[in-house]
Amino acid sequence: GGEPGSGTSARARLLVVSGPSGVGKSSVVTELRRLLPELYFSVSVTTRPPRPGEVDGEHYHFIDDRAFDELIASGGLLEYAEYAGNRYGTPRAPVERALGEGNPAVLEIELAGARQVRVAMPEALLVMLAPPNWQELVDRLTGRGTEGADVVDRRLRTAKAELGAAEEFDEVVVNADVRSSAEQLLTLIRCR
Ligand code: 5GP
Repeated sequence: GGEPGSGTSARARLLVVSGPSGVGKSSVVTELRRLLPELYFSVSVTTRPPRPGEVDGEHYHFIDDRAFDELIASGGLLEYAEYAGNRYGTPRAPVERALGEGNPAVLEIELAGARQVRVAMPEALLVMLAPPNWQELVDRLTGRGTEGADVVDRRLRTAKAELGAAEEFDEVVVNADVRSSAEQLLTLIRCR
């Protein structure tokens, strides 16, 4: 139960959505933000180059290795990890601000980062988004067409490891349908 009248439980105020690349995390979280406008979406920093259509400050803050190191050194990241040769991290201050203002926040991050959040903020709700089946994931990653075959292979290998960690999460949501997955997340935020 949360605070009286809040409609959002203390435990679920920080939602971590994890799951393999290609599972549809971004689509589901985008839909969730539509359903819950007060949800703060954490914009990560990354050393990965932008994909076509990605906007700096909106999808990610695109920074170089040196700026990333400085953020780590100053304690500016809530968590960070390397993934498929690039680094990703969650800026700490905006998440703490949102939570401090009583708003829920969502992080869309990979497994190593989710584990760090588990330790740093035990009250976080960790949800793994899983594909309906393996082939679906292969198709989605291949069909995206934004990465070369070597990158896709690497992401698929990582995906196996990530799915193997499902039991470490509070909930597993099978993403067969974006809308229904987003509604399940909404229910979890409101009812946990
Ligand atoms: P992509 O390169 O496909 O945008 O992201 C690769 C992986 O990194 C995805 O699983 C994504 O959720 C994850 N990711 C994005 N931002 C962060 C972050 O701030 N921290 C961590 N640990 N992972 C992140």
